[in-house]
Amino acid sequence: MAGPLLGCIADDFTGGTDLAGVLVKQGMRTVQTVGVPQYSAPENVDAIVVALKSRTSPPADAVRESLEALRWLQQAGCRQFYFKYCSTFDSTAEGNIGPVAEALLDALGVDFAVVCPAFPANKRTIYQGHLFVGSALLNESGMQHHPLTPMRDANLVRMLQLQVRHPVGLIDHGTVAQGAPAIRERIDALRIQGRRFAIVDAVTDKDLIEIGSACAGMPLVTGGSGLAMWLPGNFRRDGALRDSAGAERLSVPAGLRAVVSGSCSSTTLRQVEQMRQRHPSFCVDPAALARGDDVVGQALAWAEAHVAAEPVLIYASADPESVKATQCVLGTQRAGLLVEGVLAAISAGLVKTGVAQLIVAGGETSGAVVKALGVSGLYIGPEIDPGVPWTTSMGSTASGQPIALALKSGNFGTDDFFLKAWDRLS
Ligand code: ADP
Repeated sequence: MAGPLLGCIADDFTGGTDLAGVLVKQGMRTVQTVGVPQYSAPENVDAIVVALKSRTSPPADAVRESLEALRWLQQAGCRQFYFKYCSTFDSTAEGNIGPVAEALLDALGVDFAVVCPAFPANKRTIYQGHLFVGSALLNESGMQHHPLTPMRDANLVRMLQLQVRHPVGLIDHGTVAQGAPAIRERIDALRIQGRRFAIVDAVTDKDLIEIGSACAGMPLVTGGSGLAMWLPGNFRRDGALRDSAGAERLSVPAGLRAVVSGSCSSTTLRQVEQMRQRHPSFCVDPAALARGDDVVGQALAWAEAHVAAEPVLIYASADPESVKATQCVLGTQRAGLLVEGVLAAISAGLVKTGVAQLIVAGGETSGAVVKALGVSGLYIGPEIDPGVPWTTSMGSTASGQPIALALKSGNFGTDDFFLKAWDRLS
């Protein structure tokens, strides 16, 4: 059996799921791992996404973990490697995009990689090296206020230059518009000049397609999930990737259904409201947690009375005023961790009582739940809404059986997401 073709390293978990979903849609059978796996690579997959949590860790840690991921993917037999970061280039003057990309180049013994976070379908475009979010420059898009990676410069050549040792080049839109051969020619010229990276302009999907095609056979490619979309075609053209029409087929575990929500974003609040109107729901009250009530026990006893008949919702999601009030009393960090911990324990309890199809809302909440369930990886299946696929778990879960999981971060999905998602499983 041929090994996987594309080995990806994602710098955060939901970004990894986004990338994996994109690859599945392009016909690659894909698994996503939680961190660098302790097990050997699964068979019959075309792409593997190792999802790290390295976006904001100290650069040395991010580099070490990324190199471990690379070694694991090399051992799995991958032929090309993809370093995935956010389409808003989330990083600081210290890293971690530059140091990780440089370390991956060194480890692979190659001298050049493109850098292209553009995703025109999601309104992330690059022109003359400047990143736009919609019509706003990155540093005027709201990203300048990000708590961990404030993006105060939209010029990615300059941004990346702060993070790497060698001079950074630009492949401008004039070159990209001429197509893949012109892009390759420009790459060769940049390599002769001693540049190891170049930011690549991309304004439309057509631009990304040409860049993707120019990346055929390059050992390392770096970018957002937009550019990754156009790599499977290269493998298909050279005969390495069969027409995998059923790439998204999952073997769906039968069992009871539940939604656990710890996201307080406005989209999730609307989704919670729709679910509350149609199915039984249980609200986790942070004040009760702070008092030390056995909220996990109460929630599970409640769920047992309802879940056999229909999907149930257990949520801590609350409007901004309530969240602020809770944070004032408990502290922001403590409130978050307390709620995440309880929702994770409730999820594990639900799975033990027979829930085998679980939707989790919230990025951090999903991370806590996946950990509590002991899930070490996910087979990626059909997309429910952009960026949110159904998956099935690898490794042990609380029940010892695989479960179907949909991990939805904050503002993803339509308002009826919790109601309609089940239909995509059958
Ligand atoms: P999102 O993807 O919407 O950002 P996350 O799960 O990443 O969702 O983050 C939501 C955070 O809010 C989590 O840390 C969660 O524990 C916390 N949280 C959830 N409900 C409440 C609440 N009622 N009060 C305070 N914090 C809450």
